[in-house]
Amino acid sequence: MTIHDEYRTKHAKSAALWERARRSIPGGITHDIRHLSPFPTYIERAGGTRKWDVDGNEYIDYWMGHGALFLGHCHPAVVRAVQAQIARGTHLGGCHELEVRWAELVTQLVPCAELVRFTMSGTEATHLAMRVARAHTGRSRILKFTGHFHGWHDGAVAGVNPPYDVPMSAGVPGATLDQMLICPPNDIKAVQLALERGDVAAVILEPAGGQSGTTPTIPGYLQELRALTTRHGVVLIFDEVITGFRYSPGGAQAYFGVTPDLTTLAKIVSGGLPGGALCGRRPLMSLLAFRGDPDWDRSQRVAHAGTFNANPLCASAAIATLELCADASLQARANKAGEELRRNLTEAMKRAVVPGTCYGEASIYHVSFEGKPGLAGPDRPRRSALYHLLRCALMNNGVDSSMEAARADGRRRRGFSSCSSAVCSQAAAFTTRPSRTSAACASCPSTGASCATAMARSSSWTSTARGCSRTRWCASRRRSPSAPSS
Ligand code: PMP
Repeated sequence: MTIHDEYRTKHAKSAALWERARRSIPGGITHDIRHLSPFPTYIERAGGTRKWDVDGNEYIDYWMGHGALFLGHCHPAVVRAVQAQIARGTHLGGCHELEVRWAELVTQLVPCAELVRFTMSGTEATHLAMRVARAHTGRSRILKFTGHFHGWHDGAVAGVNPPYDVPMSAGVPGATLDQMLICPPNDIKAVQLALERGDVAAVILEPAGGQSGTTPTIPGYLQELRALTTRHGVVLIFDEVITGFRYSPGGAQAYFGVTPDLTTLAKIVSGGLPGGALCGRRPLMSLLAFRGDPDWDRSQRVAHAGTFNANPLCASAAIATLELCADASLQARANKAGEELRRNLTEAMKRAVVPGTCYGEASIYHVSFEGKPGLAGPDRPRRSALYHLLRCALMNNGVDSSMEAARADGRRRRGFSSCSSAVCSQAAAFTTRPSRTSAACASCPSTGASCATAMARSSSWTSTARGCSRTRWCASRRRSPSAPSS
C-alpha cells in the first residue's frame, strides 16, 4: 500500500469533511500552512501531548498549535484561568487589571521590553513595529532578509520564499513592495551597503534565522547587526513570534545576548489563545501614547486600535502561561527533548538510507531532504511534494509533525519511534524524486511557524556573492504577480 493509499484509508471522515469544506471555504482551508496533499486531516480534540482526529486516529502532537502551546494542550493552569474568566466576561469594553499584569510579565521577561502594546496576532505586531519605526526615524524603507517570515500583511510579503523577486502573495501594490529592501541572511556587508542609502527606518529579522531557524543565523551576526543599526540610527526589530519565551524565558534576545530596539511577539505570549504584542524601548513605544497635546495626539502620535486587543480571556491564558514560562527549567527541558528528537531522527534517516537530515536549535527541529542549507539559505523552491508525503507518512504513524518538544515526559519516546518508523518504513518513497510521486501542491507561502520547520524548506544554496547581486536586483526591479511595479 502506498503512503497515500494508507492515508486515504485511515482518514475517510477527513476526506468527506474536506469535500464539504471546499463548498464554503476557498480551497477548504483557513490558513495556507494547512494545505496538505491529498487533503488535510480534521482534528476533533486535544489534551497534553496528544490529539485525535475525526476518524479516531491518535497523534503525538509536535505541531502544538503552530508553536503557540509551549505547555501542551489544555494545561490545567491555563484551563482554570480561562474557565474562571469566561464566566466574568470575554470583553469588558474597558481597561482591566489582567492586561496590566500581562504587560508586567512581558516587561519582566523580555530584555528590550520597557513598554508593551498588545495586538491580536503576530502579523499585526510586525505591522505596528514597522509603523513605529517609520514614525521614529521619519524614514520609509524597511530592510528584511530573504527567507524570513513576518506575517501576511502587505508590508511583509516580499522576499519570503524563492524566487525572492516574486512576493508571497498576489494583490500587493508595487509601491508597497518598493518600500522593502531585501538582503540575503548572514551577509553583514549587504546590510551595510543598504543602510548607507540613508532611507532605512528599520531592520527586521527572525533572530535565530529565517522561518524558525531553517537558515540559522551565524555566530556574531546579531552583534554586528546591533552595532551597525545603532551606528546608522536604524531601528532593530527582532521578530520573536516563534522564539519568544521558547529559546529562553527572555526569548532569543536573552539566549543570544543581543538586545533589539523593538520585539514582536505572538503565539506563546498569549498562552495559546489569539494574541500578539509589540514591546521595546521607551522612546519608541511612547510614540503610541496620548500626551494631551492636540497636535501631537492628532498628527504625530502612532495610532493603534483593535477591538479584541488584550481581551481578558486571552490575558488570563497568557498570564497563566508566562508565569510558568518564567522558570528557565521548562525551556531547558524542552531544549533537551528537541536535541534528543533531532538525534533520533538523524539516526533513523541514516539507518533507512534516506537522503535527508535533521537539524535545529532549542526545541525546534527541521527535516530536510536536500541537506542543511548554506549561509544564504534556499535559492529555489523546495520540493514540496516530498514534504507533503512525509507529513502523510508521519500521520499514518500517529505523529503530527512540528518543532514542538516541550513536554519532556515518558510518552514522548513513542513520538521518536513513530517518527522513525514513518521515515524507515517509507524509505523507498522518500528516495523517489518528487516528479515521480503522485502528489502535487503549490509551494506553501507561510511557515515561520512550527511544524513547517519539520518540513524544512532547504535546498542547495549558491554563493553569498550571488545572494548579494540577487538582493540588488530585488531591491530595484521587484515584481508582483498581479500588480507589477512601474
Ligand atoms: N512572524 C513570525 C516569525 C512567524 O512565524 C509568524 C507566524 N508563524 C508571524 C510573524 C505571524 O504571526 P500570526 O500568524 O500570529 O499572524
